[in-house]
Amino acid sequence: MIEVLNFINNEFLPSNTNKTIDGINPATEEVFYKLPQSDAMDVISAIQAANSAFPEWSGLSPRERSDWLMKLAQAIEDNLDAFSEAETLDNGKPLWLSKSLDIPRAVENFRFFATRLLHSRSESLNSSTLHNYVEHSPVGAFSLISPWNLPLYLLTWKIAPCLASGNVAICKPSEVTSYTAFLLAKTMKEVNFPAGVCNFIFGYGHELGETLVAHPGIKGVSFTGGTDTGQKIASMSAPHFKKVSLEMGGKNSAIVLKDADIKKAVQTCIRSSFLNQGEICLCTERIFIHQSVYEEFKTLFVEEVKKLKVGNPLDESSFMGPLVSKEHFDKVKASVETAKSDKAKILFGGEALGTKGFYYSPTVMEGLSNCSPLQQDEIFGPVVNLSPFKRVDEAIRKANTTPYGLCATLFTQDLSKAHQLAQKLDVGTVWINTWLKRDLRVPFGGMKSSGMGREGGDYSFEFFTETKTISIEI
Ligand code: NAD
Repeated sequence: MIEVLNFINNEFLPSNTNKTIDGINPATEEVFYKLPQSDAMDVISAIQAANSAFPEWSGLSPRERSDWLMKLAQAIEDNLDAFSEAETLDNGKPLWLSKSLDIPRAVENFRFFATRLLHSRSESLNSSTLHNYVEHSPVGAFSLISPWNLPLYLLTWKIAPCLASGNVAICKPSEVTSYTAFLLAKTMKEVNFPAGVCNFIFGYGHELGETLVAHPGIKGVSFTGGTDTGQKIASMSAPHFKKVSLEMGGKNSAIVLKDADIKKAVQTCIRSSFLNQGEICLCTERIFIHQSVYEEFKTLFVEEVKKLKVGNPLDESSFMGPLVSKEHFDKVKASVETAKSDKAKILFGGEALGTKGFYYSPTVMEGLSNCSPLQQDEIFGPVVNLSPFKRVDEAIRKANTTPYGLCATLFTQDLSKAHQLAQKLDVGTVWINTWLKRDLRVPFGGMKSSGMGREGGDYSFEFFTETKTISIEI
């Protein structure tokens, strides 16, 4: 049995509580590691270690910090197979996906911010009597709280800009998938990363949240996870006026116009609905299709979904593995049962698969009204509803009528129309004839209940620094 331990000041330690949580392989339902069920005292030790490390780390030159982050990137890349296998065993995602997306992106997160750090510039605005310049300085210790769906990918998307900016970190990965974060801590130890700069505390978020957010030694919180949790973090941090970035849930739409390349739209929507078992915050759960191409799209889409192989995530031919946990499997299953009683017609799937593991079929439905809770609330699984529309404004209105505003995808060959429609969508990212691809320099985040703040490129650096203006009379 693998024993995951907290990582504080470069030391591996059990929790004060001596209690543990089971780390479960969702493909076999077997416990394959134990992680500490930490308490507030463990968090406080990590906060103290981080604050002690802050003066020296923030005093390093950008080149020195960059070199450390590049070293980490290289060490993860050198162990791509071990990290990928760990991510798959822990989360259930197919091994080919861990190898081609999750772990390479963790490497890229470190390289991207390590190199960007070397090319930052500061603003200067001058007149004949006054010289003004702007400084961006490190802030201190940040809590970095991450979810289970893209475990290492999303945690390193926070660690890299946080440390690059000269801050120190207390990382709190999801209790559902803590294994690759532990491997990252081991990597830090192996490369002799400066002690206390990056600490890892494992355990239940609801037990650790208050200390991670409200403790005076924490200057800011970067959170990715569900909207309900984001709300709690916002209310715990508000009285202390801390820096807070929230990346939360989505209920994302695709809109297929009558002039779309239907084959391409179908292929892209298959990926956007079912990649990673539909467990990506950017996955499409609602597809609005112009009525003149509705039947053509539906027939082709269902044909393609039937070909998706759900199975052992270690098998190269599996497109989907199991859902991440029993709890999440029950939630997805219950959502589909509610949809059935809400007059949805199941066109494909809608059932659990096999007798062991949390496998669920890719599920395509039609007939849900837009005000049904299933068209409004995030399911976060391999479930998508198709709806026809007559007029484009009707599709835009329906896409916008949810509490969320993370992303949307448009399919059309008329680019000027696409630009106009993109303006009308209340979301942080609009994709046109593609999905998921983006440059790491652009802002990423959501509107409404999907987010507060933006990550990516200089937007991350802005969040992880304090901005100061210095004015000199000349
Ligand atoms: P979650 O909110 O349950 O947990 C996320 C993290 O928050 C975990 O580490 C958890 O331990 C911690 N947490 C839980 N309660 C807490 C509390 N009271 N205080 C502080 N921390 C607490 O989310 P999840 O189920 O792990 O992830 C799925 C959700 O994440 C979905 O809603 C998905 O859309 C969202 N997500 C959003 C993005 C994005 O970029 N917008 C990306 C990935 C996932």
